[in-house]
Amino acid sequence: MKRFIPNFYCSNIFQLSNSFFIENKIKCVLSDLDNTLDVYNELNPSQRVIELKERLEKIGIELCIVSNNKAKRKEIYAKRLGVKSIFSAHKPGGKRISKFIAELGYEKADVLLVGDQLLTDVLCGKNAGIKVCLTDPISHLDQWTTHFNRLIDRPLRKHLKKKGYLEKVMVKDYGK
Ligand SMILES: [Mg+2]
Repeated sequence: MKRFIPNFYCSNIFQLSNSFFIENKIKCVLSDLDNTLDVYNELNPSQRVIELKERLEKIGIELCIVSNNKAKRKEIYAKRLGVKSIFSAHKPGGKRISKFIAELGYEKADVLLVGDQLLTDVLCGKNAGIKVCLTDPISHLDQWTTHFNRLIDRPLRKHLKKKGYLEKVMVKDYGK
């Protein structure tokens, strides 16, 4: 069960304030794409994603995308947003992510993984030995391959909430 408890929990990535990142000494944010940054079939980054990227940039934090999806569409999205990315990231495995972090030149302690799924994102953070922030999915639309994961994610998340595990790591500082 411990492997599913994230370091942080908030309802969405946009709520994480500058002071949150600074206090936790984050230099690089690896964000999941589908249902963390945008809805799964989106080709163009939304305004709030662009604003998040720019806000992070201003305080010296690099935003990157780590997605299990290998569709060309995702690369277009990352290119349009102007961020580095890896696709077919093999989450929850930690190897590709670890290699990516090394290539980017960061220490693991500098990195925060943000994602909406316990089975892929949170587990991946644990496997790679980096901090991870769990969010709620930003929409109910999922790629078909995610449907199976949600069948496990939903009751598991409910259980973690009931036991108070998510409350304990909830990010409460929503100020800028
Ligand atoms: Mg996702």
